[in-house]
Amino acid sequence: MQTTIKSPISFSGRGLHSGAPATLTIRPAGAEHGIWFSRVDLNEGDRLIPARWDVVNRSPLCTKLENASGVTVSTVEHVMAAIAGCGIHNALIEIDGPEVPIVDGSAVPFVRGIMQRGVRVLDAPVRAFEIMQTVTVTEGDATATLSPADTLYIDFEIEFDDAAIGRQHKSLRMNNGSFARELCDSRTFCRQADVDAMQANGLALGGVPGQNAVVFDGDAVLSPGGLRHSDEPVRHKMLDALGDLALAGAPLIGRYTGVRSGHSLTNTLLRKAFATPGAVRMVVCDAQMATRLPGYGLVWDEIPQVA
Ligand SMILES: [Zn+2]
Repeated sequence: MQTTIKSPISFSGRGLHSGAPATLTIRPAGAEHGIWFSRVDLNEGDRLIPARWDVVNRSPLCTKLENASGVTVSTVEHVMAAIAGCGIHNALIEIDGPEVPIVDGSAVPFVRGIMQRGVRVLDAPVRAFEIMQTVTVTEGDATATLSPADTLYIDFEIEFDDAAIGRQHKSLRMNNGSFARELCDSRTFCRQADVDAMQANGLALGGVPGQNAVVFDGDAVLSPGGLRHSDEPVRHKMLDALGDLALAGAPLIGRYTGVRSGHSLTNTLLRKAFATPGAVRMVVCDAQMATRLPGYGLVWDEIPQVA
């Protein structure tokens, strides 16, 4: 059945790229509402923005949504991963600024908050998108693919020259609590050279190494405290992919394979999948099929404890 959060929960902090302070509140919503953002700091105009692939304003560093009136919300991917990973289908996400707070750079504060409030089951079946044909997109040496599978799998490979990252590969199915157990505490990462370039261009202004981002330089991990997982970067890329795939507008049943992929390419993939006749079909989930969806099998005690 469809779900929502039982009661509102708020998170405050600065945006990673803008440095702008904001408070974000996830509120309960009824069946068939879906996930929407509302820019509550704006007094006039259309401040509602759907959490949907067709309003993504493709930018390389984060996922930014923009409604028809030009109202935007940036860096939605981690809170969207938490919502999808906890199996929440309906919520209104109010935010009083232009960018989602980066919190600790991962999704674990959002996951713990949602699970503390609890999940309410609503009186309507879940509709999911089932991938029926393989769809692939390529950009330079990056590829992203959706192919048929019995549940949502995320399969990711990255390769960086920095020896501390190197080549990392991981594959997980998302219907057995693995998002909370294995992915949700993995933080945003970048390389020192990228930080210098981004800050020169007025980006990553809210980035604080060790507090909300892991910074790599060659064979060194510069952030105090080191890594939460030896392969934290690829786990974070999988977290990002789950958040970006949640913008399908309903849970996906299929295998996502990303090689050096990122936010923009995952969005291009969703656009191609929905534009390809026969590639995606909507299915109404019975109780058995619902066990194949992200969020199923999540166990509170397996959500990582982090400072
Ligand atoms: Zn991310």
